Amino acid sequence: MMQNFSGRVAVITGGSRGIGAEIAYGFATCGADIAILDLCTEDLAKPVLDRISETGVKVFFYTCDVTSPEACKETVAKITTDLGAPDILVNNAGITRDNLIMTMPDDEFDAVLNTNLKGSFNMIKACGRGFIRKKHGKIINIASVSGLLGTAGQANYAASKAGVIALTKVTAREFASKNVCCNAIAPGFIETPMTKELDAESYLAKIPAGRLGKPEDVANLAVFLASPMADYITGEVIRCDGGLAM
Ligand code: NAP
Repeated sequence: MMQNFSGRVAVITGGSRGIGAEIAYGFATCGADIAILDLCTEDLAKPVLDRISETGVKVFFYTCDVTSPEACKETVAKITTDLGAPDILVNNAGITRDNLIMTMPDDEFDAVLNTNLKGSFNMIKACGRGFIRKKHGKIINIASVSGLLGTAGQANYAASKAGVIALTKVTAREFASKNVCCNAIAPGFIETPMTKELDAESYLAKIPAGRLGKPEDVANLAVFLASPMADYITGEVIRCDGGLAM
């Protein structure tokens, strides 16, 4: 069923490509105005911004490094001026720096934790007051099956995503009485720039659905979680992985 998000403002971090771009587009097709945050400059996000504009909603781009609490705060203030206070926050910005523990450089452990976990915390904090004032909010954190399974070679990434799952539950508890829901999506193997170097064939053998995931698979779930149909769902982690991590 097509959802109606008109009058809603959705913020998507890391939204210039991959899963984030598809989530932004999914929300736009439901009528939400869109704020895309990413590390890059606006020109690199142009194809995604044009695709969203074609749906007829407003779309703004902000260069914002989510590891900086100040940048997150300033960007949310700008969004509030440009579009209105956010109703939906998708913490999607994420990086991998895979290595076995014994060979993992310390700075790569820190970089992944800072982006994936601290970045999500920074954005929740930056948007929280607006949600409370509006008495409405939907927070969707993009975790990973790696955070459930503890994938070898991903000590930093898996720990960050397990942290995102715990952060989701804490946020759900702290904001539930304010009519704010917080849930996590744990994607499996989704075809994006992040996974293009990985050996897709070896994953395929482990996916009961018999295919790799598409960004739209995750976007569809995000639309559902942001919709009133999911108003009584909070603190939940939903896998979107074709059965990979069952
Ligand atoms: P992607 O194509 O690499 O896109 C991630 C986006 O996040 C990029 O545009 C990236 O910017 C941006 N970003 C990175 N660090 C940032 C920062 N500090 N501040 C703001 N933006 C930042 O990845 P994806 O595959 O779409 O993944 C999206 C999310 O899904 C991530 O959280 C990832 O962990 C999660 N996920 C993906 C898969 C998968 O199979 N693809 C599976 C499970 C979970 P740059 O372009 O400048 O790097």
